[in-house]
Amino acid sequence: VSNLTRIFDVSKPWLNRVVEREPKQFLRAVDNVSFEIRKGETLALVGESGSGKSTVAKMLVGLLDPSEGTILFDGQPMIMNSSERMMELRKRFQMIFQSPYASLNPRWKVADIIAEPMIVLGVEKDSAKIEARVDDLLGLVGLSAADGSKFPHEFSGGQRQRIAIARALSSSPEFIVCDEPTSALDVSVQAQILNLMRDLQDQLGLTYLFISHDLSVVRHMANRIGVLYLGALVEIADSKELFKAPQHPYTRMLLDAVPDLEMTGRQRKEVEGEIPNPINPPSGCTFHPRCPFANDRCKREVPLWTQTRTGVAACHGVEEGRIPSAEMA
Ligand code: SF4
Ligand code: MG
Repeated sequence: VSNLTRIFDVSKPWLNRVVEREPKQFLRAVDNVSFEIRKGETLALVGESGSGKSTVAKMLVGLLDPSEGTILFDGQPMIMNSSERMMELRKRFQMIFQSPYASLNPRWKVADIIAEPMIVLGVEKDSAKIEARVDDLLGLVGLSAADGSKFPHEFSGGQRQRIAIARALSSSPEFIVCDEPTSALDVSVQAQILNLMRDLQDQLGLTYLFISHDLSVVRHMANRIGVLYLGALVEIADSKELFKAPQHPYTRMLLDAVPDLEMTGRQRKEVEGEIPNPINPPSGCTFHPRCPFANDRCKREVPLWTQTRTGVAACHGVEEGRIPSAEMA
């Protein structure tokens, strides 16, 4: 895709456990496990709790090192091997966390919270300029300059998440990892924060990795969606296509559980079964104990990636063309 720059390219951090069991397949599978995030897009990673979403997020912002594989940012390995490199990367990446309650220092004034990354990362030193920039950032997230002299407890959950967003923008990052940024908020407030994040993306040309357990939250936010199951990506597709024609049986199960907000008349089904213990995952396709299409091959062999009509999926049934089409209304 010509005008999109690849800013991230992540390979293999997920299938580590497979290496112990089936080394040959691991090598083949790993080549295809990499994904990229393109400049200016939103890629969402979706999965139940325990699927490894937050681990991936932490690796991408350098809070955790992958035990294998490499993460490239703008074509360069993301290795923080010197303090200069670390400072440079930290300016360009930020993270917005799930809880706007836990992530803001309660003893600091809002203006100081927002200014911190700018100061610590050496983006701005002049105090008048810092003040002016904090005022701009407050305005950008829909708060007033006067709010800067208040403390976090004086704000609602949604407003605190606005403060956390202003702080994340303070070092003028290009890439923001958003780890369940709205899941602690009321539904009505969620929509406001998502709209704000979309507006900021357009205005500032930001790239987002958006992590969520909830497909309905990412539906209107993401350009592409990756579905995680037990620490491995099982499907990646364009967001609209994924909702219209999910390929992997696990993606279908997740979609069946999404409330029918568009009133298509589709029946909602609960997600069946429980996510197995990742320490001792099932053999073959780790989804086989929960999959209605599982057969003997599924129990034995780890599925590799196959190209689908809408993206890629790791599923024997999809590869063999034996999964009936699940075209949604
Ligand atoms: Fe189901 Fe087999 Fe596909 Fe796994 S590989 S999702 S068990 S059909
Ligand atoms: Mg998490």
